[in-house]
Amino acid sequence: LVVLNAMAAREHGAHIRTRTRCLRAERVDGLWQVDLQHADGSLQTIQARALVNAAGPWVASFIKDDLKLDAPYGIRLIQGSHLIVPRLYEGEHAYILQNEDKRIVFCIPYLERFTLIGTTDREYTGDPAKVAITEQETDYVLKVVNDHFNHQLSRDDILHTYSGVRPLCNDESDNPSAVTRDYTLALSASAGQAPLLSVFGGKLTTYRKLAESAMAELKPFFTQMRGSWTATAPLPGGENMSTAHALVERLMTAYSWLAKDIAKRWAVTYGDRVWRLLEGVQGPDDLGTAIGGGLFSREVDYLCREEWARDADDILWRRTKLGLFTTASEQQALRDYLKQMPALRAA
Ligand SMILES: Cc1cc2nc3c(=O)[nH]c(=O)nc-3n(C[C@H](O)[C@H](O)[C@H](O)COP(=O)(O)OP(=O)(O)OC[C@H]3O[C@@H](n4cnc5c(N)ncnc54)[C@H](O)[C@@H]3O)c2cc1C
Repeated sequence: LVVLNAMAAREHGAHIRTRTRCLRAERVDGLWQVDLQHADGSLQTIQARALVNAAGPWVASFIKDDLKLDAPYGIRLIQGSHLIVPRLYEGEHAYILQNEDKRIVFCIPYLERFTLIGTTDREYTGDPAKVAITEQETDYVLKVVNDHFNHQLSRDDILHTYSGVRPLCNDESDNPSAVTRDYTLALSASAGQAPLLSVFGGKLTTYRKLAESAMAELKPFFTQMRGSWTATAPLPGGENMSTAHALVERLMTAYSWLAKDIAKRWAVTYGDRVWRLLEGVQGPDDLGTAIGGGLFSREVDYLCREEWARDADDILWRRTKLGLFTTASEQQALRDYLKQMPALRAA
C-alpha cells in the first residue's frame, strides 16, 4: 500500500527519496531548510514551503530531537505481533477468537498454504525499528488458538513471525487495547512562518480520509490547491482491472506457456502493471534467471526499477511474500543476483 501510494505520487510529479533520513529541519526566512542523509551517507539540503511530519512511531521524537521544538501530544507505542503457520483449516473464511481477557485474535487464510494469526497489544518502549515478537506474545497467541481449535499448535509449527508498533495518540488509557486508534493532526505556524503539520496516530483503513484532512489543513498556505480527488482514484495497477481472475485469464491467453500459479501471484501483486513487467517478453527465456519459488530475474529487475527494491528483504518480504516460498539457498541466489546489478552496485 505504501509503495503503491509512492508510485502514484511519483506519477503526479513527486520526488520520492527512499532510505533517506531527515536529520534536522529549521525555519529560515519563511521556508523550511531540511537536511537529508541518503543511504550512502551523502548529505543534501532542500527547501520547502511546508513540512509534513508523518514519521509514525517517531512523530514526537522527530519534533523534539530533530526540530528542537515541543511536541503537542505524546505518542504511545503499542506492539502487535503475528504468527504464520501451515494452513490450520479448510475454507476461505476467517475466525475471530474471543479470548477471556476480552481481546480478540483472528485467524485468516493466507496465501493459500498458510494461516495468519494475530495480534497482540503490548506497551513498547524500545527502538521501534527493532521490534520483534516476544516469548510471552508467542505463548499468548498459541494459547488462544489452542483453546479454540482441536488441532493443537506448537512452536515448531511457526513458519514466520512479524511485529510492528502502532503509533497511537496518547489518551492516558490504562489498557493498551483501549488506546484510541483515531488520528490527530497538529498544525503549527505563526504568522509568516512555514507550516509544520504532524500526524499522530491513524490507521491504514482511514489513510485517504486522513490525507484529505491533512491537505485541508495546508490549503490556507497553498491558495492554488484544488479540491480533493483521491477518494475513488485507483492505485497503480488498479486502473484497468475488473477482477484478478479475469486478469489471470488474459495473461494465460497472451502467454500460454506461463505457469498458472505465477500468473495468479502476479495478478494479485501487480494488477494491471503486470503488462509492464512483461513488456517485450516473447517466451519463457525472456523471464531471465530462475531464482526459485516462482521468482525470475525479470520480476526482480521490475521491482528494482519501478518499486525502489534495493535488497533481498525488500523483494522477499516487503514487495512480495516469496520469503515463505523460497529456500535459504534460493534466497542467497537472489542476494547474489542483486549484488551484480549495475544500478545497485552504483547506489
Ligand atoms: C500489529 C499491527 C496491526 C495493525 N492492524 C491494522 C489494521 O488492521 N488496520 C489498520 O487500518 N491499521 C492497522 N495498523 C496500523 C497501521 O499499520 C499504521 O497506522 C500505519 O502503518 C501508520 O502509517 P504511517 O505512515 O503513519 O507510519 P509508518 O508506517 O510507521 O511510517 C513512518 C515512516 O517514517 C519514517 N521516518 C521516521 N523518522 C524519519 C526521519 N527522520 N526521516 C525520514 N523518514 C523517517 C520511518 O522510517 C517510516 O517509514 C496496525 C499496526 C500494527 C503494528
